[in-house]
Amino acid sequence: MELKFSNNDNIPALGLGTWKSAEGEVFDAVIAALQAGYKHIDCAPIYGNEKEIGEAFKKAFDEGIVKREALFITSKLWNTQHKTEDVLPAIEKTLNDLQIDYLDLFLIHWPIPLRAGTQFPEKAEDFLFQEEAPIEDVWKEMQSIKDKGLSKHIGVANFSKENLNKLLKMGGQPPEMNQIELHPCLTQQPLVDFCHEHKILVTAYSPLGSKDRVSQMKKDDEPNLFNLDSVVKIAEEHDKSAAEILLAWAVNRNTIAIPKSTNPAHISSNLKAASINLSKQEVDLISAENKAYRYVDGSFWTNNGSPYTLEYLWG
Ligand code: NAP
Repeated sequence: MELKFSNNDNIPALGLGTWKSAEGEVFDAVIAALQAGYKHIDCAPIYGNEKEIGEAFKKAFDEGIVKREALFITSKLWNTQHKTEDVLPAIEKTLNDLQIDYLDLFLIHWPIPLRAGTQFPEKAEDFLFQEEAPIEDVWKEMQSIKDKGLSKHIGVANFSKENLNKLLKMGGQPPEMNQIELHPCLTQQPLVDFCHEHKILVTAYSPLGSKDRVSQMKKDDEPNLFNLDSVVKIAEEHDKSAAEILLAWAVNRNTIAIPKSTNPAHISSNLKAASINLSKQEVDLISAENKAYRYVDGSFWTNNGSPYTLEYLWG
């Protein structure tokens, strides 16, 4: 199952996420995924594991497990590299770590610029104001990355309609992807529709509820997607697991899903979930679980003296 960019290039609808895939585990996870038939891997330098993923790619290409041209590789520009002079070195470092000479997709990870050298923002000075690193200037650099052939496609992540409009108004290359949190408790249908109307593909991150994220990011009363009534009922009817139905829901609403796993059995069953057909009634029943709940709520970008608000971030 694949979706298409405007120029007819394909992107596989199911990819492997790699956030939190630990050192010493991510190599095996990527090899297991490629052996299982994955053709799409989602990376980012902030995940701290691109070098190890690069080792896995090298082995896979050397041993003929998959050809580079058959693989769709995404990476992202981190928040500390929004100054125009930092964008090219950022992708060059990622390409070097991943041991490849182009990306298929390069995304602005967040619309939040941080001062170079900041690990995690703790004070107002750790943030840059928009005037210091305007998002429009970052987008111009992203276009020049595409023009140089360093990434076949460019896009954004965590962009609201308002922030997307800033890039669309520029009139040049529009973003080709918006990677956002999507699952039955956060359906974001208006934003998905807006993206599709503007020929922006949409990727669902944290499609399984991101339960392995650090405890500081979790709330006691957060929903468990695996226990939602509609998901449990439809999983029983299809004789599939809840995880498979969550991924099938994402793909059946024309979004791309990138579940993270380092467990070979999960890696294999997650890929197969992309071919489960759900009826429109089943998709709608699951979508009715929406409660606008974010597992990755973005508050780490709006606290500690930040000039940014949740309204700026999410609209
Ligand atoms: P996720 O994929 O929703 O959930 C990952 C968790 O689900 C892990 O604990 C994993 O454990 C478990 N899992 C995976 N398959 C399973 C299965 N079949 N049955 C039961 N449990 C299963 O969370 P995520 O990592 O937050 O999101 C996915 C990817 O999206 C990330 O890895 C990253 O690539 C991307 N992402 C991007 C952004 C952004 O800002 N652009 C933000 C968040 C995430 P095991 O490893 O043990 O299977």
